[in-house]
Amino acid sequence: MNQTLQVIDHVVPAIASLKPYIPGKPIDELERELGIRNIIKLASNENPLGPSPMALEAVQQASRDIGLYPDGSGFALKNRIAALHQVASSQITLGSGSSDPLEFVVRSFVRPGERVLFSQYAFAIYPIITHAAGGVAVAVPSRNWGYDLHALAAAITSDTRVVFIANPNNPTGTWLGEHELRQFLDRIPHDVLVVVDEAYYEYASFLTAEDRDPVPDCSRWLNDYPNLVVTRTFSKAYGLAGLRIGYSLSSVAIADMFNRIRPPFNVNSLALRAAAAALDDADHLAKTLQVNRDGRAQLMQGFSALGLKYIPTVGNFISVDLQQPAIPVYNALLHHGVIVRPIANYGMPNYLRITIGLADQNQRLLEGLKQILQG
Ligand SMILES: *Cc1c(COP(=O)(O)O)cnc(C)c1O
Repeated sequence: MNQTLQVIDHVVPAIASLKPYIPGKPIDELERELGIRNIIKLASNENPLGPSPMALEAVQQASRDIGLYPDGSGFALKNRIAALHQVASSQITLGSGSSDPLEFVVRSFVRPGERVLFSQYAFAIYPIITHAAGGVAVAVPSRNWGYDLHALAAAITSDTRVVFIANPNNPTGTWLGEHELRQFLDRIPHDVLVVVDEAYYEYASFLTAEDRDPVPDCSRWLNDYPNLVVTRTFSKAYGLAGLRIGYSLSSVAIADMFNRIRPPFNVNSLALRAAAAALDDADHLAKTLQVNRDGRAQLMQGFSALGLKYIPTVGNFISVDLQQPAIPVYNALLHHGVIVRPIANYGMPNYLRITIGLADQNQRLLEGLKQILQG
């Protein structure tokens, strides 16, 4: 008798039927597979400058104490975040990446069979955490690659518990303005939780009221909407993806629930210290945003020169339309030592999502694309 199989038969169905998250290919893996060097990764929306030197210094200092458990309450970092957003510390939930609080939302509020809404082109984690909880994931058709808030509001039923809105959105880079988002929050039932995932918020801060409707900092709206949860991360603009740290902002009552299921010590001591230091380095953030703006212009121009259309973005990535299946081009780019992200699993089989890199990295990507598409 095969004992392994007997045990596996008892895995809860919601878990057994999950399709795991597909991350960007790590550089080491491609090195092993193809035996090539000098690989660049423009696949996971990491900061090409890396973290602030102040964050690196903080990691060095904190490394002396890694024999001790971290501060499980994250006291110092929460105070720093509270000052940044002008909220109470008790409204903050720290996580191992912002993926952690996103999962706390579903585990706290979604019973098996209840609905969780998001957009057709949305972060792959939302359906995964929904399915894991036995919830029903509903992908609402997009409009112009972004969120269709009217369709989203119309899809809310009495058994809808959570709506996930990434602003700016991944994998499309589209964004919602202050006015339309407020209108949405005003018209939906107050017993539906709205999570605004602001993983790319910093990159969109160049939009001003003159541009159109600027991207709102929804942490300012927590007093107006008790059903609002806002998530932020240190993985993107702050360049700390490898340390795994992010947070949510919510009402105190919701944060209290998250705190009950939060694994003890879910944020390590290096991450706690590095994140606080990163918030203090305004210069590094400004540099990061400048590099991103320049790289964005460089890539847009390069794509246009190749006759390629792309989705207008306010994030640190651009999704480009190859007008042919993107996986073969992705594979060919790997042989050029350039890792990008095919997004067929997001229902966009002709697109590559390309993280905006440093000028020479962008150049290598564009040259590789040119050779592959015109060679
Ligand atoms: C990258 C990303 C996150 C952040 O993930 P972490 O767990 O904080 O590293 C959250 N939401 C979206 C939409 C993202 O693209």
